[in-house]
Amino acid sequence: MLVAGGGPGGICAAVAAARAGARTLLVERYGFLGGIATAGWVDLLLGIAPARTGEMVVGGIFREIVDEMAALGCARPFDEGIAKGRIPFEPEAFKLVADTMVLGSGADLLLHSVVSDAIVEGDRLQAVVLEGKSGAHAVEAGVFVDATGDADVVARSGARWEMGRPADGRVQAMSLIPQMGGLNLDRVPTRGGGASENAQALMREAMLAGLPAYRWHTPERSPDERQDALSFNVTHLSGDPTDVRDLTRAEVKGRRDAWEIACWMRETVPGMERSHLQLTAHMVGVRESRRMVGLETVSGDDVLASRKRPDTIARCTFGLDVHCPMAHTGPEAVEVGGVACRRSCGKRDCHMLTQHLDEVPAHGAAADRSWYDIPWGALVSADLRNLATCGRSVSADHRAMASLRVMGPAMATGQAAGQGAAMAAASGDLTQVDVTELQRRLREAGAAV
Ligand SMILES: Cc1cc2nc3c(=O)[nH]c(=O)nc-3n(C[C@H](O)[C@H](O)[C@H](O)COP(=O)(O)OP(=O)(O)OC[C@H]3O[C@@H](n4cnc5c(N)ncnc54)[C@H](O)[C@@H]3O)c2cc1C
Repeated sequence: MLVAGGGPGGICAAVAAARAGARTLLVERYGFLGGIATAGWVDLLLGIAPARTGEMVVGGIFREIVDEMAALGCARPFDEGIAKGRIPFEPEAFKLVADTMVLGSGADLLLHSVVSDAIVEGDRLQAVVLEGKSGAHAVEAGVFVDATGDADVVARSGARWEMGRPADGRVQAMSLIPQMGGLNLDRVPTRGGGASENAQALMREAMLAGLPAYRWHTPERSPDERQDALSFNVTHLSGDPTDVRDLTRAEVKGRRDAWEIACWMRETVPGMERSHLQLTAHMVGVRESRRMVGLETVSGDDVLASRKRPDTIARCTFGLDVHCPMAHTGPEAVEVGGVACRRSCGKRDCHMLTQHLDEVPAHGAAADRSWYDIPWGALVSADLRNLATCGRSVSADHRAMASLRVMGPAMATGQAAGQGAAMAAASGDLTQVDVTELQRRLREAGAAV
């Protein structure tokens, strides 16, 4: 089987499939694994909080990766992280652990390989075309998992997908994450460390004067006590992440905005007087892109109702976090009064509030603070029998994707996709997987199902 894309979802899919005995190839366009966790420098695992009952929502390979990073001193230990509902980690450690786990599982790995095309016969995907320094070549497989985050394989193969909100097709804002080095960590406001209200007030004032940030972001303290650097989720960029012109504009604007914000931080924020912009992420972080049309679809109402399903293969607990596609920064972001597209938004003349109120969440989280289930059918293409997906392109509506896009569920759906694909290796038919048996194998492997 072939897994396209080595982000949090694809890593777990490849490891699960190879451990289950399937001959597995993982291909990734960059020279390292990790996707948004490493290329996007997003260093916090979310979507993992225990339900009010104390029940686990994610375990399995997710837990193994956290344990390995924690052993290096580079992630908050699993139990502590679950209790707090968030696990900060070091992206470089994620890369290292991902390499070790993927190769240790017996999967084959090809880096610097972009999936550029797909070859389809009837209702089966026969091969994908890989492009890289070695040229272009087709790779056949019996089963495929599209873990590209953008559903590139789905799109190239002609299977159905959707993108954006129904009202105008726009997707959530992207962000280019800057990392600041040279910090005095005793003084920089960090989560749980106090004094962030002051930084928030300073940032608000600067945004009103035109600073192109969308909010003050209070980072978690780095789990690696040797580090004097932190990343800040502060830029907001609009555009279509499947259009290279929009991506180019976002990268260029993101770097300029990050530089301006870094200069402001150095001049203004306590503990950042000797800081410098150490890096901007390798790529602009994409929150939302294509979503595959699957046999089943998770809806925003399922999220808010904490819907449980008999055919579940993963759980998720995270609210409807729709970063406004208009990507307001500066005074406009202050007017909006928050990150998420909500009915309480201060921009009362927005077309979403005046014409499409039914699409705008009144609130973000399920009232019972429980989890909702992701069914196996949401991972299986409605058009091609041997194509599955995981992570942020599973079959969901725009609102539900704003919840299940985070890394906890991305890794849980990755593990399920890999395990299920291995079960379908002989038949090449993902629609015939015995879901009860899949659930049993996932539980045996430590997953929370
Ligand atoms: C700015 C930002 C902040 C976020 N904050 C958080 C947070 O705090 N906590 C959290 O849990 N989640 C957060 N998220 C969400 C989360 O990081 C992602 O949704 C998650 O990484 C999705 O995992 P994935 O494996 O589905 O996709 P990705 O992480 O996007 O991985 C896809 C992989 O496929 C590769 N790829 C893409 N196209 C091709 C191709 N054609 N051929 C070969 N390889 C390809 C990519 O290089 C990448 O490695 C954030 C996202 C963004 C953008």
